[in-house]
Amino acid sequence: MTVYLRINIDQRNIRALRDLSRDFERRGWFENPRFHPYLAPLERDFSGKMRFAAEHEMAQMVAEAADEEPLIHRFYWGFHGLSFLYALRAGRAPEPVMRYCGATTGDYVLDARGHVHACWFGAGQDAFELGDISQVAAGLPFDARGRKRVARWRSRGVTRVEPCSTCKWALVCGGGCAFKSRAKTGDMMQPNCAPFTEIFDAVGKAVLEAPPEHWHDRGARSGPKGQLGIEVHTASRGLR
Ligand code: SF4
Repeated sequence: MTVYLRINIDQRNIRALRDLSRDFERRGWFENPRFHPYLAPLERDFSGKMRFAAEHEMAQMVAEAADEEPLIHRFYWGFHGLSFLYALRAGRAPEPVMRYCGATTGDYVLDARGHVHACWFGAGQDAFELGDISQVAAGLPFDARGRKRVARWRSRGVTRVEPCSTCKWALVCGGGCAFKSRAKTGDMMQPNCAPFTEIFDAVGKAVLEAPPEHWHDRGARSGPKGQLGIEVHTASRGLR
């Protein structure tokens, strides 16, 4: 069993990463090849109710925190595009990202009613429903509407989203989140751009010059037999 520990961060709890990294170090968890803690920056939503800092601003805060406590590099920093830098740092060729996420490659997500969706952001929302698990269990195909929606999700990538095909970030990005592009524009085939230039400016030097003994991916990691995802907040007060 491999544990991927998601640590949601925003501008209010980044300061707590120092103590969290020291605690993980003290417990020896960073040495466990089946333990993968990663930082997930929370994003602004589209209702304007949440007031999170922009992703590159959070990236800057994490880089500054890691300046003071290099153990923070033992977390995978889940900012957009950093898998590219991590690959370069490790001397690997970065993998081109033709599609943004599993919703565009083959994921199915069930909601509590047994409805099937391609995207977990859209799970539970009728506009994203593909069909019903009872259809799948009976070996039946989705109906015409569901098949059309599946085809649309699975076709979304940098070659199909018009501005992406000529974007310099295309193969680092994959076209961005379809759910969010739909939430912003009403059309899931629009791009959803992350601030790659600003993120790289904010953390590129910190990532590439991090002491190798503190890399999150130092040494060999054995392949997962199964995966368990756990979500925590480093400071839960006030977070939703
Ligand atoms: S940054 Fe924007 S335009 Fe460029 S590939 Fe990503 S979503 Fe498409």
